[in-house]
Amino acid sequence: SVFIGGSIAGLAEIYTSLQKSIGATENLMEILDEPEEAITPVTHIAPADQLDGQISFRNISFHYPSRPDLTILKDVSFDVDEDQKVALVGPSGAGKSTIVSLLLRLYDPIDGRVLYDGKPGTSIQLSVLRSQMAVVPQDVFLFGGTIRENIAYGKPDATEDEIEAAARKANAWEFIRNFPLGLETIVGERGIQLSGGQRQRIAIARAVLKNPRILILDEATSALDSESERLVQDALDKLMEGRTSIVIAHRLSTIRQADKIIVLDKGQIVEQGTHTELIGVDGGLYRMLSEMQFSH
Ligand code: ATP
Repeated sequence: SVFIGGSIAGLAEIYTSLQKSIGATENLMEILDEPEEAITPVTHIAPADQLDGQISFRNISFHYPSRPDLTILKDVSFDVDEDQKVALVGPSGAGKSTIVSLLLRLYDPIDGRVLYDGKPGTSIQLSVLRSQMAVVPQDVFLFGGTIRENIAYGKPDATEDEIEAAARKANAWEFIRNFPLGLETIVGERGIQLSGGQRQRIAIARAVLKNPRILILDEATSALDSESERLVQDALDKLMEGRTSIVIAHRLSTIRQADKIIVLDKGQIVEQGTHTELIGVDGGLYRMLSEMQFSH
């Protein structure tokens, strides 16, 4: 893979564009498993190797290293409590993916701090931090190999029972079982082509197996057929249970139940609250976005 041997800074540079253009799950998974140390050296190792899942963004400002003139986030502050489900919404380019990149510590903020359980990210070993987070990206890319290998990525010592249980939870077991070779079915370019919904459910099974404290979902924009959509949404709902979830939401219908919705525009938080609160804001951006989505 292109990332092996690369520095974290190098990885970070290409992550966002790659993620968008080819949906580089494989590369993203490697980033999450990357043992190298962060951009800012760790000043002390936090004693806990388990996160509770509380997150705070404190007065974060950010520009990408390649574009110092272009401010991407301006004074962004929000809190996510343990086990909460928080949605990031806003127009294209508002900064949603950038917030996720900072959360994963692909970059450090220019100003402000990201805190995990009240501790600055710079004080937590990167391998610890990333071992507790999983990402389900919008366009799932599976690497050439078996379904088993794709699910067990990130937990190579997983037992047969664990893999099957993860696939069941992800609503993937039914279709996997129906392949003559089951888990040994080869996917990708030289194997069987899976549908978008099936690929997503494999990615969900992978995340189930990793059992992270913090889950990041980049909701798919492309439409799945309604049965597949239902299976994916059901699997995601199960996956989010009992952990902190950050959802980049494109379809506002899926986030009505979120504990908090953060509305971004041009790098700033313009509103935050529950669906019921935000829909009641006259002339509010959230209300406008929902009206636009449900009018066609
Ligand atoms: P979308 O809904 O389209 O995914 P978004 O809200 O996730 O948008 P970001 O991807 O965070 O928005 O992008 C915010 C801004 O940062 C955009 O202007 C984008 O062009 C810029 N940007 C994103 N990644 C990089 C990068 N690696 N280097 C420089 N600029 C970048």
